[in-house]
Formats: sequence, structure tokens, C-alpha cells
Amino acid sequence: MSILYQQEKETAIRAVIAASILTKSVQNDLTGKHSIQKEDRSPVTVADYGSQAVICKILNEAFPDDPIVAEEDSRDLSKPEHSENLSQVTHYVGVSFPRVSSEEVCQWIDLGSGSISHRYWTLDPIDGTKGFLRGDQYAIALALIEAGTVRVGVLACPNIVPSSHGGKEGRGGLFVAARGQGALQFDMIGNSSRKIRVSNINSPPQALLTESVEPAHSDHQLNLELAEKLGIVRQSIRMDSQAKYAILATGEASIYVRIPSPQTPEYREKIWDHAAGSILVEEAGGKVTDGVGRGLDFRCGKRLEGNYGIVVTNGLLHSTVVKALGSLLP
Ligand code: AMP
Ligand code: MG
Repeated sequence: MSILYQQEKETAIRAVIAASILTKSVQNDLTGKHSIQKEDRSPVTVADYGSQAVICKILNEAFPDDPIVAEEDSRDLSKPEHSENLSQVTHYVGVSFPRVSSEEVCQWIDLGSGSISHRYWTLDPIDGTKGFLRGDQYAIALALIEAGTVRVGVLACPNIVPSSHGGKEGRGGLFVAARGQGALQFDMIGNSSRKIRVSNINSPPQALLTESVEPAHSDHQLNLELAEKLGIVRQSIRMDSQAKYAILATGEASIYVRIPSPQTPEYREKIWDHAAGSILVEEAGGKVTDGVGRGLDFRCGKRLEGNYGIVVTNGLLHSTVVKALGSLLP
């Protein structure tokens, strides 16, 4: 395996592009039928499973020995009462893989049930489920980890608006980073690449903060207090999914803080929610630690057991933010 991870990058890009075509068509079809309902998880499930099947199949063909640790498995989907969902997933996967059977789709999904090892891939087939349901931001996040460190990250944000943060009219962005090689942004079919870099803001009041839309996913009140302490008066950008890492990496926002909400103080972050995003920001010149300044440790398991919360900055602001946060944490 070359140190440049060329084959890994190319394969991951191909897999994530195929999955994003699938998720976009699920989102379009459902929006067309006006059938996306906030309470109804089934459209998400179809896109989740389909994305995971396509990515695992493509990865496994190229790297049959690499474990994949992904968010979903086929246990629920293969139950008789979900046969209609399984047919839908099979239909969407069949666009990329004609004549695929439902049985194969389940097998491909379960290629994602690997274990953490020295070298493994981690995948969130749809990150930001709630954003996906609303038609807002979501991401497909794939990363390769070796020796506890992320080496390659590919993040598709199909609804991101280039150099803006709202809306869904834009063409989306595909973000790619490999250790020591910098960070690139492509369009959604993998063309027109440009190197991206974090902001060079070094005065906290000028920084824009980004955070989850969902109050259950991080402590919004704490972020308000942090902003006040840092002299930030501009409202924070609320955005679903690892698209937050993408806008850090392009310099649009400069601080992303995610501390467990008081309702779920024991919550520990999942590896697939941060692997791809974190290497993207690091390779764009920024810094990623947990809430108390420790590096993220991807060797522990599906959860970042050795870490508490997440702090992402452009690097220049990092120690100031971690210090300010330290004075607010219990
Ligand atoms: P976001 O879109 O940034 O709010 O993050 C979405 C991710 O939050 C999902 O992929 C979940 O894995 C994760 N998540 C679910 N519950 C929690 C929680 N209580 N605290 C933090 N993150 C969570
Ligand atoms: Mg997720």
C-alpha cells in the first residue's frame, strides 16, 4: 500500500459519489411525493441502507481485507415486516448495480459490521439524519484509520452551498483529505478541485461559531456562554452533520464546539461522526481536539471513549477556545 494512499482516495471518492447519487435520488423522490415526514424514519432508513450497501460493496471489492465499521446493519431490514423497505433499498442500489438481489444488498450492508483494528474504514452512510429529513444539510462520511489516526477522509455534502451556509440550491461539495497532503474541495461528481484552507482569524470576536441544529446533540446554552466569554456577538451557524467541519475547512466558520447536552452527559461521540470531518479540518490547517484539549483517539471502539466532546478551530484560536471552555465546564 503506497504511503500516498492513492488507491484508497480514488476508491473512497468513487464510493461516496455513488452513494450520494443514491441519497439525492431518495431525497428528490420523497420530496416530489411530499412524503417526508419528520416522524417517519423510513425514507432515511432507505437512504442509509442504500448508501451503506453501495459504499461497502465498492470498498470491499478494492480492499477485501480491510474491516469496515459502519453505522447500520441489516438485522431490522431483513425482517418480514420490512420487506417493502428492503425492496426500495434494492431498487435504489440497483441503479448502480443492475440485477442486484435483496439478499446481496443485505450482505453488502453487513460488510460494514467489521471491528476496529490496526487499519479499518469507518462510515456514516447518512450523517445528519434529521437534516436529511428536513431537506437541509446532511453528509456521507467515509474515513480510513491506521494506528489510531485518520489517514484519508472523504465527505460528501450534497446540499452545501459553496461559500455559503444555508439553502439547498447549491450543487453540493465533495471534500477530500489525506494525511500530509492538504484538503481539497470538488464538485459532486469529483471535478473542479480547489485547495481549501481554514480562516486566518486570530481575534475571537471576529470568529463565527458553528453548532448542531439539534439541541439534544450538544449544549447550546454552554455555547452561548462561550461566545459571550470570547466576545463573539454574531449568531452561531446552526447546521446538521459534518457539513460543519466542511465550513470550518473552507474558512467560513472558525469555531465548532460540541459538548454533550445536560440531558445526555454520558454521551460519547461516535467515530464515524468525526473521522472524515476531523482530517479535513486538520489538513486545511485547523485543529481538532476534545472538549479539554486532548487529541481524538480512534483506537477505543465505536465510541470515542477516551474523549469528552469536540472542539474544532482554525488552529489559531484553539488554545483560547479550550481555555475559555475549561472555565465554563463543571
Ligand atoms: P449533528 O447533525 O451534528 O447534530 O450530528 C448528528 C449526529 O449526532 C448523529 O449522527 C448521531 O450519531 C449523533 N448523536 C445522536 N445522539 C446524540 C447525542 N445525544 N449527543 C451528541 N450527538 C448525538
Ligand atoms: Mg452521524
